Amino acid sequence: MTDDQRRWIAETVNDAEGFRMLLAAEEEPTTVAGMHDLALFTNRTFGRILLLDGAVQVTTADEFIYHEMMAHVPLFAHGAVRRVLIVGGGDGGIAREVLRHASVEHVTLVEIDAAVIDLARELLPEISAGAFDDLRLSVVIADGAAFVAGGADSYDVIIVDSPDPAGPGKVLFEPAFYRACKAMLGERGILVTQSGMPFLTAEWFAGHAADLRAVFPGRRFFLSTVPSYSGGPMAHGFSTPSPDANTPDEAELAARAAAAGIECRYWNPAMHRAAFALPGYIARLVD
Ligand code: SAM
Repeated sequence: MTDDQRRWIAETVNDAEGFRMLLAAEEEPTTVAGMHDLALFTNRTFGRILLLDGAVQVTTADEFIYHEMMAHVPLFAHGAVRRVLIVGGGDGGIAREVLRHASVEHVTLVEIDAAVIDLARELLPEISAGAFDDLRLSVVIADGAAFVAGGADSYDVIIVDSPDPAGPGKVLFEPAFYRACKAMLGERGILVTQSGMPFLTAEWFAGHAADLRAVFPGRRFFLSTVPSYSGGPMAHGFSTPSPDANTPDEAELAARAAAAGIECRYWNPAMHRAAFALPGYIARLVD
């Protein structure tokens, strides 16, 4: 395709905020219609891009940022994680990063839409990088809210790799879901959530922060900058049943990363600590 033949695709997830991002597809997108509308195409800057219901789910160029922070911040903060629950995350990126920790004995991934896993395994294998074949991983095709409501198991870390609060993902932002997650976490447990872009959705974000605070005595946010998630820094909820939602100091984090033999492209001890520093406009929404 020459430049003037490229097909420009609009990301529509922020339509309510009057904000769209355009992405040029280098070829006709591969689409899958089902519980979610999926579209996969190549972009000159972001590599392979998967849209889910019009929102960027993952790109091969910058997925490492989001997946490393969603996995390594809770796992290195905790320090002795054996059992992890991932809600959503059908592309396998978070499972890939979690399974890099030898201390992890079991990961349950609860994904509502099998088509996401099927497409990611077949057409985006570099995202999961073999995670789906790891014997420590169990995949459950179910609604994450229904799964935790069953409260069958306990986990050291729960990672909610949800879409934005719309469609099937909406229940993953409800207080009942957070209460059920808390009941499945040990005293030192950590819940991490995909908490959107505070710059774009300030009012919603303040309510979301209050919902988490109402359930978890310890609740903080950390930030990451994912170029393909438009609208400024992305917030990640970091919630704990214990009031002390603190994270170890940089030296301890470095020792834990060295002991785990894990080096990352985005996460590092300094970034881990710095990510919890909030600019005034976000801090004021949180408290
Ligand atoms: N990492 C991207 C982000 O930050 O938006 C996208 C995460 S991805 C879109 C969210 C995954 O959650 C998708 O695979 C979607 O199918 C799945 N999902 C949506 N609602 C769900 C639910 N109620 N239970 C389990 N998985 C759900």
